[in-house]
Amino acid sequence: MSRHLLLIATSNPGKLREIEAVFAGFPLHFEDLRQYPDLPAAVEDADTFMANAEKKALYYAKQTGLPALADDSGLEVDCLGGRPGVHSARFAGRHGDDQANNVKLIELLGNVPLDERRARFRCAIVVADHGTVLARAEGTIEGLIIDEPRGENGFGYDPHFLVPDLGKTTAELAPEHKNRISHRGQALRSILDALGHIFAR
Ligand code: IMP
Repeated sequence: MSRHLLLIATSNPGKLREIEAVFAGFPLHFEDLRQYPDLPAAVEDADTFMANAEKKALYYAKQTGLPALADDSGLEVDCLGGRPGVHSARFAGRHGDDQANNVKLIELLGNVPLDERRARFRCAIVVADHGTVLARAEGTIEGLIIDEPRGENGFGYDPHFLVPDLGKTTAELAPEHKNRISHRGQALRSILDALGHIFAR
């Protein structure tokens, strides 16, 4: 069976681990943006996760000549009017500074009681090749934001994202467990439903 080459259009190690784990078992080789250090980053200026994911997938497919999978994701907190939303990665200013983003989030929530700290992670995934979108998918997971960080797994806002039914943050879940229930796991499985026939060839 031949192995397809797929570009995972991110250099975020947390996203990469989760994406590669869901795709394990498919005859795929992966590259990611760490192999393209000189490529200028895609402009992520759209106001929805899906539109940004589409921009990224089309841009990186064009730049590399490979089929590209892009994930655009983030956290929406209801009492903050949906912030940080599409600005999740750079909420505190510097792109990808998870610690500063978490500090800002908890400061903004101040004395808001736990039951008013409803939030969700959203993920949009797009696969594109040769100027064409091959598939789009979305996933969400609901939770509450807690002040004290808990857990060592995951990345980003995970230590503050409590899944009420489990009594655990997404950083306290084993990686397989997070992937089974998470926004990203859901979106990736939908992508596999749509494109599995291509990847499995
Ligand atoms: P993007 O690279 O523009 O899609 O930014 C995604 C940002 O959203 C990350 O840097 C994290 O801050 C946050 N985020 C997305 N997915 C997750 C997750 O699964 N756990 C925790 N934070 C996440």
